[in-house]
Order: sequence, then structure tokens, then C-alpha cells
Amino acid sequence: MINIYQPSLGEEEVSAVREVFQSNWLGYGRNGTKQDEFVNKFASAIGDIDTDCMTTISCCSEALFQSIGAYISPGDEVIMPSISFIATANAVVHHKGIPVFCDVDRHTLNPNVSDIEKCITDKTRVVVIIHYAGAPCDIKGIVALCKRHGIILIEDNASSPFAKVDGQNTGTFGDMGLWSFDPMKIITTGDGGMIYSKDLDILQHIKYNTYLGLKSSGSTNAVDKKWWEFNIETPGSKSTMNDLSAAIGIQQLQKLQSFMLTRKRMHELYDELLKDIEWLSVPPSTADNVESSYYMYYIQTHDATDRDNLAKYLRDHGVYTTFRYYPLHWVEYFSEFKSTHELSNSEYAAMHTLNLPLHQDITESDVRQIVELINSYKKETKSV
Ligand SMILES: *Cc1c(COP(=O)(O)O)cnc(C)c1O
Repeated sequence: MINIYQPSLGEEEVSAVREVFQSNWLGYGRNGTKQDEFVNKFASAIGDIDTDCMTTISCCSEALFQSIGAYISPGDEVIMPSISFIATANAVVHHKGIPVFCDVDRHTLNPNVSDIEKCITDKTRVVVIIHYAGAPCDIKGIVALCKRHGIILIEDNASSPFAKVDGQNTGTFGDMGLWSFDPMKIITTGDGGMIYSKDLDILQHIKYNTYLGLKSSGSTNAVDKKWWEFNIETPGSKSTMNDLSAAIGIQQLQKLQSFMLTRKRMHELYDELLKDIEWLSVPPSTADNVESSYYMYYIQTHDATDRDNLAKYLRDHGVYTTFRYYPLHWVEYFSEFKSTHELSNSEYAAMHTLNLPLHQDITESDVRQIVELINSYKKETKSV
């Protein structure tokens, strides 16, 4: 089976983990451990960001819960594209807010400024966007819109790490940016995430909230005091990253350039081999001032039944495909949040889009084989 996503881990990660075993410090440490090194290296990988504005976290879903929770009160509205990751809506409902689903462009699957603008009311507190498949949305237009209305902008950057607009990394345009390092993402730490926040008070609150609310732990108390005494700032839970994950992340960052190059090459090869097939479309090419992170490759069949049948055909022939992200307004649980806004482009995308395998261990011959199967699917269905 050719996987749709898979991690690339090697000896370097194994040695890094062994080193952490030997250090005897496996958990979360705020000072001088693998966490700090990972934050420093990640911050420079996304363009010399101030490390005071960043923290690691257990995963990006938790980052969505924490960031949305930090900003909303019960009854507040949070706008998100219907084509978003499920945790975004879960987090809003969990914090007793109201998720408002906006439409997207049917070919880029990213929201336009006007899609978001239509949904703004005097209860709108936060907008959460993604950059679909790694290709940046009109982030500058969306930042301006949110500024104009005094709305907080959170970039769920899980699917677009290291993508850029005018040389600036996505995830650093909004008030907050969130990254994921789960095993399906470009770089992985097993599970893990990163938060960037322009508001240091909010970031400090999240740090307390994700580490039991502890103001100071024993080891940072003065030695002349009883070091087992402590106080808490807030009744927090625990969702920190551990040093095993951070150590893996440091190694993954070293390989980033080669990962990105492979993805770009395979993306371009798909484009070249598929662009002349008349019954499907390849993703729109990105503008000159943006760089994609090439997280996902997708096609859109002109006929919706082709999408479903092709997915089955490819799976029967050893190629796993999928569609990300199933529209949130179709999730039955959220039916009470029915939108009054037109979501026809999201629905078009959800019926016509198929994500094809793309990861850094895909070979040129894998891509050629997948394209051959796509072509033979059509030949076989025509002859019946
Ligand atoms: C993977 C993903 C997440 C969730 O990340 P986890 O670290 O697995 O919790 C959130 N948003 C998007 C867009 C994703 O692709």
C-alpha cells in the first residue's frame, strides 16, 4: 500500500532519544532542557521569531483548545472555514462559544476575505483560518479585515509549516499561530505542537494552564525554603511536551530542507503528469510572492461520482487516498449551528476533491504509478 502520509524517521532520531534516556530527564522542563533547544531552533526556522513568544504543547488540537479558550466567553462567535480541522469547532463548543462556518474558494479550499466578512456580527470575537494543503490564503487581507473589526486572528498553521507570504512565514501574521508535529505532518515529534503568540500575557496564561497552573515548582524555589511548597495561578491541567519529543523535533528540523525539496519535486511531478487530463483539475498554481509548504497534493474530478469511484479503485490497487477536511457544517453533532451563509463552494470541494499520497519517502516511480492508475481507472470505466 502506498500511504497518503507517513513520517520520515531515522538513526538520528533514535540516537537523540537514546541521549535523552541517558540524561535521565524525560519529562517537561522549563529551563535548559531539550524543550528550549527545540523552541530556539524552531523559532529560527520560521524566521528569527522571538522565543519569548513561543511555547511547546502536547499537540495542535490542545493548542486550539487553549488559544480559543483564552479569548472567548460563553456566547461569543468564532468564524472558521467549514473546511477546517474538527478540533477548532470542538474547542469553540467546549468553551460555550458559537462556531460560525464560512465558505471557501472551491479550488484553493481557502477562505477569501469576503467569505469571512459576510459572517461578522457584533458577537464575533475570533477568526481561525487554515492555509489549505500548505498553500497560503490571502492572509494579509484577512489580517486587515480582523484589525478593522477588532477581531482576534488565530492561524491554525498545522498544515502549512514553513509556507511563506512575501518572505514571512505563515503562522506569524495573526495574533496567534499554531503548529502540529503529529505523525502525519511534515516534521513530527510523535505528537506535539507549538504556539506563537504576540500577546505575552495570553501566552503566560496558556503556559500556566497547560502545566497545572504552577507558579513555581520546587526546583526553582530558594534552597533555604522548603522546596516542596508551591502555589498555583489557576486550576490548570497538564498538556506539556516531553523531552523525548523535543529531541526528535530537533533532529527533524535538521532534515527540513531536504523534506521540503522532495515534497516540492513530487508536487510538481504530479502537476506535470496530471495537468492535461481533461476530466480532472490540478490545484491552482500559487502566486509568485508565496511559497507553499506542499503538505498535501489534491485533484478535483469534474464529475463527483468519479471522485468516489476513483478513491475506491486506487485503494483496491494499493494506493490510499482521502479527503481532508470533511466540512464541519455536515457533521451531525454541529447541526444546531446551521449557517445562514452560502456554503456551496465548500460542498463542491467536499464532493470533488481527492488528496493523493504526498510525503518525503514518495518516489518518482510511486507518483508515475499513481498517475497510471488514475488513467487506467478512466479507461476501464469507459469500456463498461
Ligand atoms: C493535523 C491538524 C491539526 C491537529 O494537530 P494534532 O497535533 O494532531 O492535534 C489541526 N489542524 C490542522 C489543519 C491539521 O492538519
